[in-house]
Amino acid sequence: MLTISMITIGKVTINPTKIICLGRNYLEHAKESGSDAPKEPVLFVKTPNTLIGDGESIIYPKALYNKRTLNRVDHEVELAVILKEKCKKVSEEDAYDYIAGYTIFNDITARKLQLKAIRKAHPWYLSKSLDTFGPIGPRVVTPKEIGDPHTLKIELKVNGEVKQSSNTSLMLFKIPYLIAYITRFITLEKDDIIATGTPSGISPIKPGDQVEASIEKIGTLKNPVILEE
Ligand code: MG
Repeated sequence: MLTISMITIGKVTINPTKIICLGRNYLEHAKESGSDAPKEPVLFVKTPNTLIGDGESIIYPKALYNKRTLNRVDHEVELAVILKEKCKKVSEEDAYDYIAGYTIFNDITARKLQLKAIRKAHPWYLSKSLDTFGPIGPRVVTPKEIGDPHTLKIELKVNGEVKQSSNTSLMLFKIPYLIAYITRFITLEKDDIIATGTPSGISPIKPGDQVEASIEKIGTLKNPVILEE
């Protein structure tokens, strides 16, 4: 069994093989990124080397750090779905049966690297999968406790200042549709993570900042940012 990607979230330890992320799954965020609403889900992956828990530090890479011109590393608060069991070709109607729980994910992004890759029509893997660029937690909440996952206030603060504030009702592609869409093509494994996209308000973080990502009924995921040694 692979154990390299094990991460403990509250009382639960998971071992995901992949983190499938949604790009532009909120209209206001698509607009602030200079795009329209996508007609089908925009998918990319982050690798499990990104995962850190509540309270752990987001490490700002020295290679991206210049005090005068910050090389734009952004926060992105997202509702994360954790899979209950291996599945493929799941129908929208059955999709909720495959969800073990929900938590908060912060899809940290090296924005300048991403934009450079997009300009060249290259994949933007690197910009999304730097070590520590995937804070997750602080706990896994069961589907029963959450109820409808598309009714939750979602917010992110940097040093106490609100930067992102929205509601998961504004997701363009809803969770059952996403599970059905992804599993038409890809086998999802137990503990795999789907990060459902970020609302508008993305902004840069820098060493010394405190980042707090909150979702109603789940709690607050807190991570300081430090400069790589
Ligand atoms: Mg994102």
